[in-house]
Amino acid sequence: MTGDQAHANDALQQAAEWLATAERVAVLTGAGISRESGVPTFRDAQEGLWARYDPMELASPEGFRRDPALVWRWYEWRRALVGRAQPNPGHGALVRLEALVPYLTVITQNVDGLHHAAGSRNLVELHGNLQRFKCFERGHLVPAELLSTDERVPPCCPQCGALVRPDVVWFGEMLPEVALRQARDEVAAAEVLLVVGTSGLVQPAASLPLVAVEAGARSIEINPDRTALTPHLDLHLSGPAGRILPALVDAVAARTTRK
Ligand code: NAD
Repeated sequence: MTGDQAHANDALQQAAEWLATAERVAVLTGAGISRESGVPTFRDAQEGLWARYDPMELASPEGFRRDPALVWRWYEWRRALVGRAQPNPGHGALVRLEALVPYLTVITQNVDGLHHAAGSRNLVELHGNLQRFKCFERGHLVPAELLSTDERVPPCCPQCGALVRPDVVWFGEMLPEVALRQARDEVAAAEVLLVVGTSGLVQPAASLPLVAVEAGARSIEINPDRTALTPHLDLHLSGPAGRILPALVDAVAARTTRK
């Protein structure tokens, strides 16, 4: 084992020890945890088909007002991509961890529904869900089966005729109040916080780890890269979530079964 590998293993064992002895754990996830399921982060999406568009144009109320058909088509493309995606071993490891510790909440910025598909039960979706729809003017929820089937893009709200949009939080919009309050309460009460696959640049989600740290939580980051949050957190486990999370949860399981 090289010095770097020994250091990484020490950090993983330390993280496992904290998790195995914690009563309350909170996990904050971002786009990185779904990357190994084939769902691109916004940065990856900048390299493909949609590279010439600015995410701010595709994921903001202003962008939707300017070109609703373009935004709708972008979300159709993302929905199709997510529809084909399966949870990966990173999502699965969090489901296993939920069964190993007395209390665990997953707070996600992702809109892909993959934590739910994997089986996470205690889940807070901060930024909504791609598979839900609402009306742009009044926020009426529109079940997918009621979306108008004519050729209009975007479709119209069956209640008021306004344009329909995905029920996700766009740049410049407020987060759902209940979800944000619940997330703040969960991180403030957590003894250990895991931060997985987020750049820590999108507020207010990015401030949640700091709430946990200020309240005295141990904090662990899993990300192949250092992020804006790294200097504030206790441990950085470097690597993809699909590899590091299962190894971490194996180490937690080895400790909890010994107890
Ligand atoms: P981000 O794109 O800003 O950052 C992604 C982070 O994941 C980076 O720090 C990157 O280093 C890390 N990463 C890449 N591959 C990884 C892997 N295999 N394992 C672990 N980490 C990995 O994402 P963000 O911080 O979530 O913020 C972007 C916003 O975009 C959020 O609001 C989110 O709702 C939205 N978004 C969601 C999805 C999704 O639902 N899957 C996809 C793209 C963007």
